[in-house]
Amino acid sequence: MDVLNRLKGGLVVSCQPVDDGAMDRPDIVAALAQAAVAGGASGIRIEGAANLRAARPVVSVPIIGIIKRDLADSPVRITPFLDDVRALVEAGADIVAYDATPRTRPVAREAILAAILDAGAIAMADCATFADGVAALAGGARIIGTTLSGYTAETEGANDGPDFDLIRAFRALGGVVMAEGRLNTPQLVALARAAGADCVTVGSAITRTEHVTSWFVTAWRNADRAALTGFAVDLGGTKTAAARIEAGQIVQHRQILTNAGGDLATQLDQMAALLADLGYTHGAPLGVAVTGRLDAQGGWHAVNKSTLPLIDGVPLGPALRARFGAVACHNDAAAAAFAEAVHGAGKGLARFVYLTVSTGIGGGIVLDGKLVQGRGGLAGHVGFMSSTQGSTLCGSGRSNTVESNAAGRAIARAAHDAGHAGIDARAVFAAAAKGEAWAETIIDRSAHAIAGLCANLTALLEPECIAIGGSIGLAPGYLARVRAHLAAEPALFQTDLAAATLAGDGPLLGALALTQQKA
Ligand code: ADP
Repeated sequence: MDVLNRLKGGLVVSCQPVDDGAMDRPDIVAALAQAAVAGGASGIRIEGAANLRAARPVVSVPIIGIIKRDLADSPVRITPFLDDVRALVEAGADIVAYDATPRTRPVAREAILAAILDAGAIAMADCATFADGVAALAGGARIIGTTLSGYTAETEGANDGPDFDLIRAFRALGGVVMAEGRLNTPQLVALARAAGADCVTVGSAITRTEHVTSWFVTAWRNADRAALTGFAVDLGGTKTAAARIEAGQIVQHRQILTNAGGDLATQLDQMAALLADLGYTHGAPLGVAVTGRLDAQGGWHAVNKSTLPLIDGVPLGPALRARFGAVACHNDAAAAAFAEAVHGAGKGLARFVYLTVSTGIGGGIVLDGKLVQGRGGLAGHVGFMSSTQGSTLCGSGRSNTVESNAAGRAIARAAHDAGHAGIDARAVFAAAAKGEAWAETIIDRSAHAIAGLCANLTALLEPECIAIGGSIGLAPGYLARVRAHLAAEPALFQTDLAAATLAGDGPLLGALALTQQKA
């Protein structure tokens, strides 16, 4: 039987240990290949000529060879050079896979493909899009794989799981369709076949012990979230995310840019579309987290009026209930605070505060497992407390708040004032990392303001821990700076500081968890 027929209808195991991990040795790769064949694999994918040379004598199934390189001037990693093709064929590859995307690269994809064919091997095109597959087949490739879908700038984030749409689309093209990428359970493999794949490649879930171990460790650590199943939405000033959550794990996630100029009906339509995409059905548990202030009646108000201009004093809670049934809605930082308190950095603590240092500053207070909420929904908006750093007017109408001196917007404005116009907080951190003094000064002033806030919160609440999240709060070195400034306060006003552990998942997990909070 020829190579393609032997491969078709079967499972290819990608024997690629974690780079520089304990199993990254040719003898171990060869053993993994033998074990895969013993389990029924009809093909093997191997990276690197040395690994291929070790595996070739011990298995008789077809081998797909690749060479991976990290290039400074190109995002293309899979078999980028003509010499790579030659080395793989010499080492015994029956099939050579190559990056079939039209991205910037040292050697044109057509030239790589021609070299594979010249060397007498079968070409497998690792594609990101339908157009990649069309071009590869036209050039003589026999196998088109969905390998790179989700891993190019154009396709990033489009799918959490395998790209079944691309598998279906490839089916119509006539080549051998290889499903590859994020196929990490037997169930997904079966779905890939149902979508029309001729064969399927599985890697990490079989041959990367470190990854598989971490999946089980995470499941063990998160077992106390087992009751958390349902849906959640996180509507921020920039992006709106929705998730399907099963036993405390986000199993599916969708994200779009927020329509910042939209009214309440528009926002609800966007939420409904995202939820429908995730398989939400009316009445399923649903928690919603939004930027802004939510009063006890579910009225939604802007604290900073420029974020969502048409959202101020609109009846979000009643509108959500009319559309989706029982829904809990909360401020996003309050929801994240609750998630951190129950499942993250504040687990087991009776008195806990969470701060997010991001575009603005948000927060939430959880005492004895209950989120502190006032009638107007202002409780926990700690970014609007006063700061001793700087002297600016805040979007809230107060002057000299922590937010107006320490948040992302304030950092960008301070950079502008220091003669570095048009850059954001991330760029200021990058400049500080290169040792630029002006940037260090700005970041340090932000951290100083946050430390002052932590001392104030300690005076008010005596929390056992304050956890800090947000892209700025979690940026390298920031928490250490806050700790250093807090250490300069009198001992009585110091408390433990921790990094938030749930990162961007916090508002989603918290929004759903709050549907279960007793009144
Ligand atoms: P949001 O404000 O929408 O909740 P983030 O928590 O991502 O979102 O915060 C955005 C802010 O964080 C912006 O000011 C941005 O410049 C800054 N930022 C994003 N990434 C980084 C990073 N890696 N290091 C430092 N600052 C960052």
